[in-house]
Amino acid sequence: MNSIDIFENSIKAYKLTEKYHENYVGLERALFLGWYCDLENPCKFCYMSTQKDRIKEPLKARRRLETILAEASIMKQIGWKLEFISGGYGYGIEELNDMIEMVSYTQGCKQYLNLGIIDFEKLNLNNVEGIVGAVETVNPELHRKICPGKPLGNTKEMLLKAKGYDLKTGITIILGMGETEDDIEKLLKMIEELDLNRITFYSLNPQKDTVFENKTSTTTLNYMNWISQVRLNYPKLKIISGTWVDKLPNIGPLVMAGSNIITKFPLFSIYGTKYGKTVENEINSTGRELLGTFSDLDVLNFKKELTNSPYSKNYCDKLGGIDKNIEISDKNLNTLQNMESDISNKVERYLKKTTKNAIK
Ligand code: SF4
Repeated sequence: MNSIDIFENSIKAYKLTEKYHENYVGLERALFLGWYCDLENPCKFCYMSTQKDRIKEPLKARRRLETILAEASIMKQIGWKLEFISGGYGYGIEELNDMIEMVSYTQGCKQYLNLGIIDFEKLNLNNVEGIVGAVETVNPELHRKICPGKPLGNTKEMLLKAKGYDLKTGITIILGMGETEDDIEKLLKMIEELDLNRITFYSLNPQKDTVFENKTSTTTLNYMNWISQVRLNYPKLKIISGTWVDKLPNIGPLVMAGSNIITKFPLFSIYGTKYGKTVENEINSTGRELLGTFSDLDVLNFKKELTNSPYSKNYCDKLGGIDKNIEISDKNLNTLQNMESDISNKVERYLKKTTKNAIK
């Protein structure tokens, strides 16, 4: 598609987004459980694939519970929804059930999961809003090459099964790994086939020691092309778009092309800095209203409440997804109470470090 058509599509996509999703753009962040993936044949683009042989004790590559909960609490304070709870393969069902329950309780809302192939019979679905399948690319040959350990068929089967449990579903797509424009049609068909509620796009962030090291990223126009075509074909779909600190000027164009949410930031190192403010300026420059903050230090430090939080009643009534009545077992409630001071200490440490970065 030529560049003029991409811009024209984006203008239509921008207007269509406003019609079905109001005027908001939010910020989100994946909550990672750890840095080790147990998948036998790890994905070729992934940072965790470069760490696998270096990690001798996988259990030590997991984040501590108080760290995970501290992050969940800060995200709520600054008005960022969790994109999903994520981690590599290899978590036991019991520990996942406990973690999902405690994160949901801390945030007062159900969560999306991106945790490989889910065992629906064993997972406690009470606090799960939706399931994300890490599709990565819809080009079958490329998929076999890049993600040899997670066949596309298994992911699709899981997402169809999730619908039977009344869960929302989404997929992740990474642009810049060798797909072509013809693959957009395949993606549109997959969205229909799986009846998806949302999609997350990422622009490949080439990792050291992978086959993509030294590769360039996808262009902003190509990124806009994918997003705007998805928006024009699926006006109600939630579109989440990933950027990175070296690509922040693509945020405005991604919003113009139909994105509802922007994600993938090194949050704690750029909050309140010129980079965090650039993110806000990019979104504001499109005429959309930003939900949450990427710069307010008083909000970050719990000295002030946000007025534009997607967790607040005003917005969640319109956007959905907040359920204050999160069920929690006595065992997990006890764990949370016993860990209260550990979680507070961790929150303090995050805030101190982030505030220091912001004012230096
Ligand atoms: S399954 Fe996910 S975490 Fe594991 S190697 Fe692939 S992309 Fe990385």
